Amino acid sequence: MIDLHCHSLFSDGTLTPLQLIERALVAKIKFLALTDHDTTAGLNELHNKALGHDLKIINGIELSAQFKKHDIHIIGLRIDPQNEQLCDFIAKQSERRKQRAIQIGVCLENLGVSDAYAKACEIAGHERIARPHFAKVLINAGIVCDMKTAFKRFLARGKPAYVPTIWPSVEDVVGTILSAGGDAIIAHPLKLALTRLKLFALINAFQAAGGIGIEVVSGEMLGQEIRQVADICKRFNLLASSGSDFHSDASRVGLGMQRELPDDCIPIWQEW
Ligand code: AMP
Ligand code: MN
Ligand code: MN
Ligand code: MN
Repeated sequence: MIDLHCHSLFSDGTLTPLQLIERALVAKIKFLALTDHDTTAGLNELHNKALGHDLKIINGIELSAQFKKHDIHIIGLRIDPQNEQLCDFIAKQSERRKQRAIQIGVCLENLGVSDAYAKACEIAGHERIARPHFAKVLINAGIVCDMKTAFKRFLARGKPAYVPTIWPSVEDVVGTILSAGGDAIIAHPLKLALTRLKLFALINAFQAAGGIGIEVVSGEMLGQEIRQVADICKRFNLLASSGSDFHSDASRVGLGMQRELPDDCIPIWQEW
């Protein structure tokens, strides 16, 4: 098995790197990429805990970007986490996240949820706050019953606690991944809420910037959706990636448990 997309408690996941390794060994994963949102903070610990096991750790990151006012995610694989340009970029992303989180806190305060930002920081245990941390604040306050409802009622685009963020462009994000020696991949293309035409425009911009891959298989995708992205992957001569987008043991798809990559796509890990 291969899993090139997952999260730890260094971003909005709930498991430690050690717990991820335990899950990866059970699933017999051969290549595991940790792709926390806008951070590489968990990579060192993941490498340490993988020592002595027959499991190759791939240095990854999931970077937030913007394309025509849409929030999109681009994954960097085989990046050098020490790369200076990448480190500077991450520092700026963290600041954007922090400012956004403070503003989400203000929105929630106005809706009657007190100290939401402080509570989100406490839940996260760090300052790289993502919306799922606020979703947990809302769940703990008894305002919503689950994560999905928290997004639907408060945190998703257009909802009362949604705060638009000016994420960097596709060119900036892909350029940074390349300068850190990595491969850039469009994450979960069907989750980006783009029309087919806009997705094609994104792919064109992404390839022009040097991006080479697309996630053909992601977490909860159904067979027909995978087929649809596989055809797009072939049409644009992209390499195919595959990952669970696992965040916790409550995730519907376990680590390495996503569906198989169609065999007419070229896997990005083919020559690793
Ligand atoms: P952020 O990076 O702060 O914008 O948060 C994005 C994260 O929120 C994603 O990586 C998912 O983990 C989670 N997320 C986004 N939309 C939803 C949703 N509708 N339901 C549950 N989780 C979501
Ligand atoms: Mn996430
Ligand atoms: Mn994502
Ligand atoms: Mn993800």
